[in-house]
Amino acid sequence: MQNYGKFYQKPWKERINLISQNEKLTKDQIQILKSSAQNRFLGDTMIENYITDYSYPEGIAFHYLVNNKDYLVPMVTEEPSVIAASSHGASIIAKAGGFVASTSERLMIGQIILENVEDSKKLILEIKELTKNLLSVADRAHPSLKRRGGGARWLKTRILAKDLVAIDIAIDVQEAMGANMINTMLEAVAKKLEEVLNQQVLMSILSNYATECLARTTCKIPFELLSRNGIAGEIIAKKIAQAGRVAQLDTYRAATHNKGIMNGIDAVVMASGNDWRAIESGAHAYAARNGQYRGLSTWKLSGGYLIGELELPLPVGFVGGSIGIVPLVSINQKLMKITSARELESIIVSVGLAQNLAALLALVSEGIQKGHMRLQLKSLVIAAGADATEEDAIVDRMLQEGKRDADSAKKILRDYRKRDKNDRSQLE
Ligand code: NDP
Repeated sequence: MQNYGKFYQKPWKERINLISQNEKLTKDQIQILKSSAQNRFLGDTMIENYITDYSYPEGIAFHYLVNNKDYLVPMVTEEPSVIAASSHGASIIAKAGGFVASTSERLMIGQIILENVEDSKKLILEIKELTKNLLSVADRAHPSLKRRGGGARWLKTRILAKDLVAIDIAIDVQEAMGANMINTMLEAVAKKLEEVLNQQVLMSILSNYATECLARTTCKIPFELLSRNGIAGEIIAKKIAQAGRVAQLDTYRAATHNKGIMNGIDAVVMASGNDWRAIESGAHAYAARNGQYRGLSTWKLSGGYLIGELELPLPVGFVGGSIGIVPLVSINQKLMKITSARELESIIVSVGLAQNLAALLALVSEGIQKGHMRLQLKSLVIAAGADATEEDAIVDRMLQEGKRDADSAKKILRDYRKRDKNDRSQLE
């Protein structure tokens, strides 16, 4: 390891110099690192060892009609086709009357794991006796939450093994995601348990398996809205329902099915300043809630309609974490015209279902590659070195020649430039 000692204590300029020298970055690379560092104060506040800002593109998905309200949906993603597919899925559902979304209470579960338990049944009885007291210890550790109408709601115990007991405390987090608040509350309760019961605590932390903070959305699409390329809507609806069934039966398919749902969900979670790792882990745990990993959405046929449904844990915040400090997040909240975490949950779960519809529709009709191809080829030709004036021509050539790989992109670009040069020299 090169000399990076106390990197975190060095001023930003020194960090850049050090990393540039040690890693032998070129002048251009150093310039990119420096010019990308758009908000050094914010970066240094948010993370450790900050050097620069790594930016993702943000776009808007349209046609979202959720609970009779129209929304613009900002999405942050690096993947081509996600926003186009999202708008496409949403537009079909809007024509069918839109999404009907709902949310459960916003309770997050905090866990205190007790270890070296000698008599778990006795311990559980003692904890039961102390429940009221422990809940008020939790509330006193973050009193502003209770003042806002939230706070600790209930406590349950589970025996994990002969020597391990879990205490689950449900906390109403109001408008926040709640991780930091809960962790503070849990630590206070853990301390109390150690004092009163002389019981060893292994750890205290929130669970990302947010089964008490669920969002659900449904849509009801008449068959005729699904017809494609001369194929009747009813046939497509049946194929989508069949594809949904496969995702319930087969884990290989379910993982990809859910990846498609998360394409949309993560993009809005990021745009709204929320923690996408927290949402991802909760979603996948929920997909396996019955012992087998399954598709998060279901698609069924009923009386001339395709009925889609999606439910997953969505403990997103409207305040807290990085939400209040990243200016783009406030702009995105304004674009969405949302006023609460529940409203955000309703949008996000609906985006997941629209994304899923668009993917399944493409898969069972023209195949997924067709829609993706042009955007993916664009990324390929840019990686091959094409600039903005060349990009479209090279993509067209690749499509004409049926080429899809990086070597072909480079060769076509070389030929194009040679021809372009020849054409120019003939003109001169
Ligand atoms: P914060 O620590 O920022 O706490 C929420 C803040 O929002 C508090 O300061 C609270 O103020 C304020 N607030 C203002 N209005 C409200 C309201 N109406 N309802 C609720 N709070 C309000 O964030 P969280 O506790 O939400 O934690 C989220 C962060 O934790 C994320 O950045 C996440 O990445 C991170 N994290 C995630 C973990 C995980 O998922 N496993 C683990 C650890 C951290 P006041 O203080 O006055 O109550």
